[in-house]
Amino acid sequence: MTAITNHMPTEELQALDAAHHMHPFTANGELADKGVRVITRAKGVYLTDSEGCEILDGMAGLWCVNIGYGRDELADIAARQMRELPYYNTFFQTTHVPAIALADKIAELTPGDLNHVFFAGSGSEANDTNIRMVRHYWALKGKPDKSIFISRKNAYHGSSVGSGSLGGMSAMHAQGGIPIPDIHHIEQPHWWAEGGESSPEDFGLTRARALEDAILELGEDRVAAFIAEPVQGAGGVIVPPETYWPEIQRICDKYEILLIADEVICGFGRTGNWFGSETMGIRPDIITIAKGLSSGYAPIAASVVSEEIAGVIASDEFNHGYTYSGHPVAAAVALENIRILEEEQIVDQVRVDTGPYLKEKWESLVDHPLVGEAKIVGMMASIALTPDKKTRAKFAADEGTVGLICREKSFANNLIMRHVGDRMVISPPLVISRSEIDLMIKRARLALDDCLEQIT
Ligand code: PLP
Repeated sequence: MTAITNHMPTEELQALDAAHHMHPFTANGELADKGVRVITRAKGVYLTDSEGCEILDGMAGLWCVNIGYGRDELADIAARQMRELPYYNTFFQTTHVPAIALADKIAELTPGDLNHVFFAGSGSEANDTNIRMVRHYWALKGKPDKSIFISRKNAYHGSSVGSGSLGGMSAMHAQGGIPIPDIHHIEQPHWWAEGGESSPEDFGLTRARALEDAILELGEDRVAAFIAEPVQGAGGVIVPPETYWPEIQRICDKYEILLIADEVICGFGRTGNWFGSETMGIRPDIITIAKGLSSGYAPIAASVVSEEIAGVIASDEFNHGYTYSGHPVAAAVALENIRILEEEQIVDQVRVDTGPYLKEKWESLVDHPLVGEAKIVGMMASIALTPDKKTRAKFAADEGTVGLICREKSFANNLIMRHVGDRMVISPPLVISRSEIDLMIKRARLALDDCLEQIT
């Protein structure tokens, strides 16, 4: 068999890909006809494909390459760690320096008393950990019936059986026998799509109070936790009205419900602070972290839990863990990533410089005939496409048709911009410069123009 390399013709790589590779969240049968784009290398905020095109990655991979592509420091650390200790586990009374150091660093960075870290290999695994750890916690406290998780429709918390159940994606729940029992979904705070005639502030309160209604309906003694992303990412970068989170916090406090902030996207600077919980002013009992923890250079994630929860869990053996929990190479890479984020003050830069600059440019897109609203927090942003801005109308075509056209036009203009239904989203590397932001906005506008031309 000949070696498969970057230097092969694109069509050959595409044919081989179609023959043997099953892509996630993809209608694989259609992919062969459409042809996949083969990405061969990346540097800074740019990807290069097998045809030599340079593409601005407005999505930082999958919301994860916070420090940008091509940082040699991470490659060097990974190689050094692989030589020294490529693998060892942290089960059965053993540990190693990368896991010790990373847990220590995370405890220093995370807010409040979130200072105990349970490692996993992915955000999905970490959210599965949350399900088991929270139920075990309440059982140890003599409340084994407190086992129900409340989450939100259109939330994304991962793809495993547990985390996919926590998520509220109807397309996922239609396949594979999820959700599992004892997961309850309430409505999301998505004012643009569902707010009707309410003001955003009233709507935020109504949607927060749906949590209280659910707790009262299910019984305070049955509800273990509420889980939510500070800002819904995969659901379409839905920034909740300002009234939402304070009310959620009040309700969780009142009924003794654990608050879990899924920071897989929002963590590590994405919202202009280290964690989205800080930006939204909440005090979670647990946070889920992944993605920006290693800027996607190595698969690693964690549940970070409060002093109180860790104390209770420590009183018993917790029969849970993954082969790659605290993997030494991934942990060393994550530590180096955090060193770069700190040393280059990347989070501050997002908060005071490039974030506000992007906000101004992104919000200017509302003057485009297709764009109804533009929302942004730090470096995650969305626009709603609509045929009528005043009424916030949907297109006559099936939901997502226009969004998909816009995504394809964006791709054709060498910008990765994702669509969620008829909402376009971006989440670029946090190191994007002002001139790269200008280019990204220019290409987004071209995509919108081309999309408008096609649908009219
Ligand atoms: N939680 C959130 C908020 C996410 O956005 C994601 C992935 O996009 C996950 C969890 C799942 O993470 P992973 O894909 O690493 O399992």
